[in-house]
Amino acid sequence: MARGAKVDRGLGVRIQRDAPTRLLPFTRFFRGFETVPAVRALFGAQTERVLHGLKVEFFSARFGYMGTSDVDGHLLISTHHLHDSDFRTVYLDLVHELCHVRQFRKGRPLFYPKLSYVDAPSEIEAYRKTIDEGRRIGMTRKELIDYLKVEWISPAEHRRLARRCGLGPARTKRAGHRRRPKK
Ligand SMILES: [Zn+2]
Repeated sequence: MARGAKVDRGLGVRIQRDAPTRLLPFTRFFRGFETVPAVRALFGAQTERVLHGLKVEFFSARFGYMGTSDVDGHLLISTHHLHDSDFRTVYLDLVHELCHVRQFRKGRPLFYPKLSYVDAPSEIEAYRKTIDEGRRIGMTRKELIDYLKVEWISPAEHRRLARRCGLGPARTKRAGHRRRPKK
């Protein structure tokens, strides 16, 4: 183990507080993302370089899906999610995380501890781009709204997030400026 790793002792046990993460190349598992317009829009001419340098850490806990490290910008991916979730969900989640990778590279914060998940600027931006990509690949409004449903947000937060991604409540047919019927 690296010298100088932080170690605590107490209660008769020893706990090493620093641990390595096992990182694997993104491109070993995910190919062709450099051709996705939404990904190219994020990294431009650097797309290939960024994706080839990107690393992934897999974890096998039953909770959580994907994330981006705010320490060094690598991806974290649940092996259960990768294995079991439907193709478009995994695809959109990867696009979402790549938005966070870009934010990290720009030195922007990924986490806003004082804000709710759906109010964090990093999440709003990532979800907007992800939903745009979902539209591009032909997902319906309902599928996109369902995609935004994650168990850690409330129904009100889900509606807020959907609205922010341009999936607000369906407009009743254009009524122009007609007055409400008097009662
Ligand atoms: Zn996110």
